Amino acid sequence: EAERAAEIDYVFKIVVVGDSAVGKTQLLGRFTKDEFCFDSKSTIGVEFQTRTITLNHKRIKAQIWDTAGQERYRAVTSAYYRGALGAMLVYDITNRQTFDHVARWVEELRAHADNSIVVMLIGNKADLAGRRAVSTEDAVEFAEEQGLFFSEASALSGENVESAFLSILEEIYGVVS
Ligand code: GDP
Repeated sequence: EAERAAEIDYVFKIVVVGDSAVGKTQLLGRFTKDEFCFDSKSTIGVEFQTRTITLNHKRIKAQIWDTAGQERYRAVTSAYYRGALGAMLVYDITNRQTFDHVARWVEELRAHADNSIVVMLIGNKADLAGRRAVSTEDAVEFAEEQGLFFSEASALSGENVESAFLSILEEIYGVVS
């Protein structure tokens, strides 16, 4: 039984994209290790982290890739997107520019990733509601137009992080199974 439990039925590659400093690394840390690191920036060189979950009695290993700062130089390569079944497209609800750039990231995904990729738009830093610069309505409208799933979340408080990752994994499972 122990051996059976260690078996993995599926590996789902998910890429995390979006402007620099929107909280991509912290969202990944929250989902894979349930932690938030106040003085990070040690991400250079870390390619991906994993967490295994059970869904419909299947063991699914989520392999979640971090850009490791490449997005700063607009140098995210096609290798990063190769084989990705899902994408978390992150903006910061307190920074309008990061939301204005979301359309560019969608184009980038359409150009480099597989057509069937499941994309979830994440408005991160929802804990900073008093500094909000992007309304939920604007984001919902954009997500509907583009056919993206959407959630606001906070890597800091943990709000909606688990549910956002679990929904993208369920959607991917629906595509591949
Ligand atoms: P990345 O460049 O997109 O990977 O962004 P990081 O994960 O390195 O986060 C950038 C900055 O935003 C760091 O100072 C984090 O502490 C902060 N940050 C990330 N997520 C949140 C969040 O949910 N709430 C708040 N208040 N700050 C956050």
